[in-house]
Amino acid sequence: MFKKILIANRGEIALRVQRACREMGIKAVMVYSEADRDAKYVRLADEAVCIGPASSTHSYLNMPAIISAAEVTDAEAIHPGYGFLSENADFAERVEKSGFTFIGPSPDSIRLMGDKVSAKQAMIRAGVPCVPGSEGALPDDPVVIKRTAKAVGYPVIIKAAGGGGGRGMRVVHTEAALLHAVQTTKAEAGAAFGNAEVYMEKFLQNPRHIEIQILADKHRNAVYLGERDCSMQRRHQKVIEEAPAPGIPRRLIEKIGERCAAACKKIGYRGAGTFEFLFENGEFYFIEMNTRVQVEHPVTEWISGVDIVRTQIAVAAGEKLPFTQRQVQLRGHAIECRINAEDAYKFTPSPGRITTWHAPGGPGVRVDSHAYTNYFVPPNYDSMIGKIIVHGDTREQALARMRTALAETVIEGIKTNIPLHRELMVDASFVAGGTNIHYLEEWLSQRER
Ligand code: ADP
Repeated sequence: MFKKILIANRGEIALRVQRACREMGIKAVMVYSEADRDAKYVRLADEAVCIGPASSTHSYLNMPAIISAAEVTDAEAIHPGYGFLSENADFAERVEKSGFTFIGPSPDSIRLMGDKVSAKQAMIRAGVPCVPGSEGALPDDPVVIKRTAKAVGYPVIIKAAGGGGGRGMRVVHTEAALLHAVQTTKAEAGAAFGNAEVYMEKFLQNPRHIEIQILADKHRNAVYLGERDCSMQRRHQKVIEEAPAPGIPRRLIEKIGERCAAACKKIGYRGAGTFEFLFENGEFYFIEMNTRVQVEHPVTEWISGVDIVRTQIAVAAGEKLPFTQRQVQLRGHAIECRINAEDAYKFTPSPGRITTWHAPGGPGVRVDSHAYTNYFVPPNYDSMIGKIIVHGDTREQALARMRTALAETVIEGIKTNIPLHRELMVDASFVAGGTNIHYLEEWLSQRER
């Protein structure tokens, strides 16, 4: 096992990985930007190295600075967390070429899955169901583009092969709007992702977002840890996640889960990963794979009893998965609310000093956050400052525990979206379960102020 790991991230996930290292008797090196210098998790680290100014381009995305930090501290492996460089194949490659272990899949797997066109083709070959659409990237020929759209059936969605974070997509309802939409998406994709390739999919009208968590080792073992329902989204950003997904028959989950695990074996995938699907009318349609740990991993950890971060580290060190698919037992229900430093009504970011931080507790409550009283939320990064996760024997019990946890939470000095979560936890449709990906946006447009 590694003796020392460098954590190339910040905030709650940096702390999460630090905790896993502690538990495993591994020393943790934190890298930090000038904006994060005083954060408690940085001060609590075994070692900490400043890698640059606040701007993430010059710090958390600064590959040479991160790699030299690993060199000077004699770390053996680098954990990339999520976001930043976690899905950057070039970074993974540079890490390995510099003699360190990248805690994640191989650069080739990241590259294959990072390009949505090649990912989709690999999934089709592996027998994972995908959204009907163009075979690979769209050609330039307008006749072929129109013919493809007609065959797929309107509405269609034009998506950038290199897209991410909900960007680089355009829905088209009529042939009249098609060619212009393709051209615009191409131009934007070229500028934003350095890859102008786009592809076409059928636009599903009212799907749910269901994803499958997998874990794989270097010995061709792969298991799935059930699903998560992440349909509660605003601007393609997840707000609430839960596991299991309400109302989906277990045999459907098992069928798709087995396909995902088999696909991992087929492509030689290792580490943690998530297959994201749209789910409509009883069918799963693959949209993309995330080749890293996800924000919402705790809901799966809670129902499965598996420590996903610890397992990531263990398999990166070459260990075998410590359990088989048969040994995976899912129990109860878990829900996660993402806490953002933002106005709960206007969604404008609200960085600044937290004057009071009172976290909830009690049975079935977990808080993953690096924040505390007197912590300064820097304006330079994502607004998520933590997550409240609850578990119950049933979904009803989990909901009740989340309501109590949210009622106990006191965060002063900055605005947060806690009031939004309090409202959603008593919303009749959310409480009934099974809302689709448009529900939250529609709910927000009718919300009373
Ligand atoms: P990103 O990598 O930018 O997150 P995804 O491919 O995961 O891109 O898509 C993000 C979101 O866009 C999905 O969660 C869904 O809301 C919407 N979306 C993507 N593809 C389709 C589709 N074919 N039909 C309907 N909605 C889609």
